[in-house]
Amino acid sequence: MEMKVVKFGGSSLADAEHFKQVANIIKADPARRFVVPSAPGKRFSNDIKVTDMLYECFELTRTGGDADAYFPKIEERYNGIIADLGLDFDISGELAYVKNAITHHSGRDFAASRGEYLNGMILAKYLGFDFIDAENVIFFRNDGSFDEEKTNEEMRKELKKHEYAVIPGFYGCMPNGTIKTFSRGGSDITGAIVARAADADLYENWTDVSGFMMADPRIISNPCTIDTITYRELRELAYMGATVLHDEAIFPVRYAGIPINIRNTNRPEDRGTMIVPETNEYDAARVITGVAGRKGYSVITIEKDMMNAEVGFGRKVLEVFEDDGISFEHLPSGIDTMSVVLETKAIEEKRERVLTRLQKTLRPDSLSVEDGLALVAVVGRGMVRAKGTATRVFDAISAADVNIKMIDQGSSEMNIIVGVEEHDFEKTLNAIYNEFVK
Ligand code: ASP
Repeated sequence: MEMKVVKFGGSSLADAEHFKQVANIIKADPARRFVVPSAPGKRFSNDIKVTDMLYECFELTRTGGDADAYFPKIEERYNGIIADLGLDFDISGELAYVKNAITHHSGRDFAASRGEYLNGMILAKYLGFDFIDAENVIFFRNDGSFDEEKTNEEMRKELKKHEYAVIPGFYGCMPNGTIKTFSRGGSDITGAIVARAADADLYENWTDVSGFMMADPRIISNPCTIDTITYRELRELAYMGATVLHDEAIFPVRYAGIPINIRNTNRPEDRGTMIVPETNEYDAARVITGVAGRKGYSVITIEKDMMNAEVGFGRKVLEVFEDDGISFEHLPSGIDTMSVVLETKAIEEKRERVLTRLQKTLRPDSLSVEDGLALVAVVGRGMVRAKGTATRVFDAISAADVNIKMIDQGSSEMNIIVGVEEHDFEKTLNAIYNEFVK
């Protein structure tokens, strides 16, 4: 039988009404066997996420404030959900234990993790599923890094014992038995880890949007949703700032070749976005999969006559950056010029030192830095086959009266990156989006 791992974000579990929707979704498909919940999120725009309330409680304890007086707000959230669901479940003992532990300095990660832990218990009870504490199946090493092998082995063993189960997201266990969380939004990672260990056919990630959008809705009004995107395309777009999923959530499922389906809990009828390992199919009418970008880049340009004949020139340039621990983004080069594009914040304090060293080691004819660059990436697996894509990108940008400062097309032909001045950023994104989508 097909098997799915489903993860629900905090907004999908913010109150009893959402719990009911979530239960309907799970019960509608018996393949949805393993469920990973987040902690209750915001119910309205200026509401506070339970995770943030738990951090606050921890802070109050640490700074000598009154955590005891604050904790009832958290109790109210959980008791409210249980009462509104009409659930016969007494969680008071658990709540008292958590409160006591936090107010007795149990640690920041322990405090934060209880949001998922308690929510997972309630959800398991409501669904009639088993509850697997993530503490027993997700492991970190002494240095704090995630222990993939041990986790996969233990999780696999445990999942085999259950037909249907809830595994709370976001946290796991250190070798000394204390609780550690992933970074914020980390329930996505737990979902991916469970999907891999369960050999799932699909990892469904339920949130409050109907998938991954072709462009940032803060810049492009009402962008279309992406139907299907490959892991590589997603990586390119995410790197350029597009987010829906936690970055690290991709790896466990990507290695296992498991597709991810981003779905909307409030609109379960939408098919959402499928993130797949590979596909040659693409929307011929659109060609591109998405467009994203970021501001805040600088370009260092080095010119030297006969540079092309000087063996080792490129290595010497890069060594200067490497020695200072600076990573670069792109290296567009001409016959006698080489440019290094990098994040402005990466060189901020090291600027003088880097320039002096470049001057000394390379003896260039000229050396300059320009700040205020924005990079825009046009990404699409369809670009390899569709002729004229680059022309369309450049024509659209030029028709918008924007000057292109840099062009970089990876040899995979899956993306074209252009550099423009920061004040032209929004205009450029709109021009490209409108050219391919409207
Ligand atoms: N509850 C945690 C957070 O707010 C983890 C998550 O929602 O994925 O970051």
